[in-house]
Amino acid sequence: MELLILGAGGFHPNEHRHTACSMIADWGVVLDAGSGAFRVRQHVRTDSLDVLLSHTHLDHVVGLTFLFDLFGDETAERLTVHAAESKHAVLTESLYHRELFPLAPTFRLSVLTGEFTLHSGVKVKTFPLDHPGGSVGFRLERDGKSLAYVTDTTAAAEYTEAIRGVDLLLHEAYFPAERAELANVTGHSTVQRAAEVAAAAQVGRLVCIHPDPRCDAAEPFALNEARRVFEHIEWGIDGVRVEF
Ligand SMILES: [Zn+2]
Ligand SMILES: [Zn+2]
Repeated sequence: MELLILGAGGFHPNEHRHTACSMIADWGVVLDAGSGAFRVRQHVRTDSLDVLLSHTHLDHVVGLTFLFDLFGDETAERLTVHAAESKHAVLTESLYHRELFPLAPTFRLSVLTGEFTLHSGVKVKTFPLDHPGGSVGFRLERDGKSLAYVTDTTAAAEYTEAIRGVDLLLHEAYFPAERAELANVTGHSTVQRAAEVAAAAQVGRLVCIHPDPRCDAAEPFALNEARRVFEHIEWGIDGVRVEF
């Protein structure tokens, strides 16, 4: 299976990374809809699309507006956005306030539950993360392939069991190892902690996403130390296809 990284960054886009958006085109699944979501339409291979939102900070949702005509006149029937119920009003009333965007939402809004199956057959499990205002992690499985998407959280959250043994873990790493205290205060992770989580959960491969965009480099922070904790670690970058 293949995951496309369409936006590997957080907070704001930079030359290497648009903000949060990844896609498993064969499953018809999009993970978050940050500024990288403008790339979704060129990769659509399915009759419908499910967008799973971790939370509604702008770097994860601004790209919903880019998809207003994704399936032409049938967009509202074929595009489903899954978000925690507490986040629905901010999407429909704030992001789609007429002074910000002139059209009403052209998607179905679905309430995230603990466990559900998409009509593509993908099994989804959700788990809470630790981030200001809340965030949700996802474990996705189909045809014996599994991945977990964990972004905008301290790595102290109790989700190790929920992601145990997945083939691929996408985990945020906003800060370098030496900024652990700041990571905790702001609800983010360091590369070191992401590696520790990957090792504890015995995942197959770790791709780090959502680094501080002010470090605009293919490798924003060195991974040498983290690689001692978990060998199969790499940086996500826009345009990369990750096999799992
Ligand atoms: Zn973010
Ligand atoms: Zn956030």
